[in-house]
Amino acid sequence: MTDTSLPPYSGEGPPCAKCGYIGASTEYRGVGECIHEVQYDEVIGVEPNERLHRACARCAFAWDEAVIGPATA
Ligand SMILES: [Zn+2]
Repeated sequence: MTDTSLPPYSGEGPPCAKCGYIGASTEYRGVGECIHEVQYDEVIGVEPNERLHRACARCAFAWDEAVIGPATA
């Protein structure tokens, strides 16, 4: 019942979906916090899942991935 909308964690060096750069940062985000600021769009909302926030070190594109462990309620 969790993480149904998030892709799995892609590891230490996933290529950026926008620019191909390898070197995304990873930051844990809890349930409810969702602020993405990228050059093309800004999304602020509420996420129902805890997740890993990834952000490209070159173009600043950001995306979310699922945590590798089960969500804690
Ligand atoms: Zn990028």
